[in-house]
Amino acid sequence: MSRRALLKVIVLGDSGVGKTSLMNQYVYKKYSQQYKATIGADFVTKELQIDDKLVTLQIWDTAGQERFQSLGTAFYRGADCCVLVYDVNIQKSFETLNNWHEEFVKQADPVDPEAFPFILFGNKIDVDGGSSRVVSEKKAREWCASRGDIPYFETSAKEGYNVHEAFLCVAKMALEGE
Ligand code: GDP
Ligand code: MG
Repeated sequence: MSRRALLKVIVLGDSGVGKTSLMNQYVYKKYSQQYKATIGADFVTKELQIDDKLVTLQIWDTAGQERFQSLGTAFYRGADCCVLVYDVNIQKSFETLNNWHEEFVKQADPVDPEAFPFILFGNKIDVDGGSSRVVSEKKAREWCASRGDIPYFETSAKEGYNVHEAFLCVAKMALEGE
């Protein structure tokens, strides 16, 4: 068994939910209020140790084109894990998860879509101390259960809350499916 693994992770969800911020927080420990549609690269990498394995996560971000066009086949090709992100304060971003899930299955065409490792992040839980939240944790977990027990994490890219834990789960899932 190899002691190294290179795993491709793609991050999907509506524009503005915090995909780029989550990656920046995880990889660079940085957060910016300023709206930047892209990090200027196709992907960023993060190395981590899981048991006796050195894992390199290659995390692919969109350049903001999720707003108006499809992401292209290169984006989806060979993905080992798909992170779906919504904003707990915006109902629409929760509802479109169905579309993103469907789009992934269509574009990436995994051998067994039922068994493919998806994970859901409910982001921006810090906003107004949680008082502007419109999607409950229960609703989110129900959606995850209906999709075959997708793991769920509530995160704040702004405060760095649960971000490492969530991506650690991503890495472990991607590694298992390898
Ligand atoms: P993307 O379009 O999904 O990549 O979203 P961005 O990462 O560009 O974030 C959109 C906006 O939401 C930016 O102004 C971020 O600063 C802000 N944002 C992202 N994550 C959080 C969060 O966890 N909490 C709060 N309060 N704002 C966030
Ligand atoms: Mg972005």
